[in-house]
Amino acid sequence: MMVRPLPAVNADNRAFWTGGGDGALMINRCQDCRSYVHPPGPFCPHCESRDVAPEAVSGQGRVATYTINRRQWHPDMTVPYVLALVELDEDPAIRLPTNIVDVDPERVTIGMRVEVTFEQAEDLFIPLFRPLDCGKQ
Ligand code: ZN
Repeated sequence: MMVRPLPAVNADNRAFWTGGGDGALMINRCQDCRSYVHPPGPFCPHCESRDVAPEAVSGQGRVATYTINRRQWHPDMTVPYVLALVELDEDPAIRLPTNIVDVDPERVTIGMRVEVTFEQAEDLFIPLFRPLDCGKQ
């Protein structure tokens, strides 16, 4: 069980960090030009609209890049673990820094299909990703 440093939650990113309680990965989306906006902010960097609201996405994507951390930087985090950037299917320009879990770190590959899973930490739900075919092997 990992004990990770928790993110600072604010009005802009609350849905992202709590949506997992309803099983949903919530990404802010511009209600004018429909662009996804991440990291969450109060306005759209594409059209400068301030009409931005969280919407549920599929939670599926692919590993854009990753590294395996083998060093015990934090006393409570079990090594090795995979640090990755995951591109979302809805918009590959959205890349979430995350961990890949439920898989041997040595089996993670660039391009691997993954789906979101959530790790509850206090009242937050941290979005992590696991192989999409997890459990079918
Ligand atoms: Zn926009």
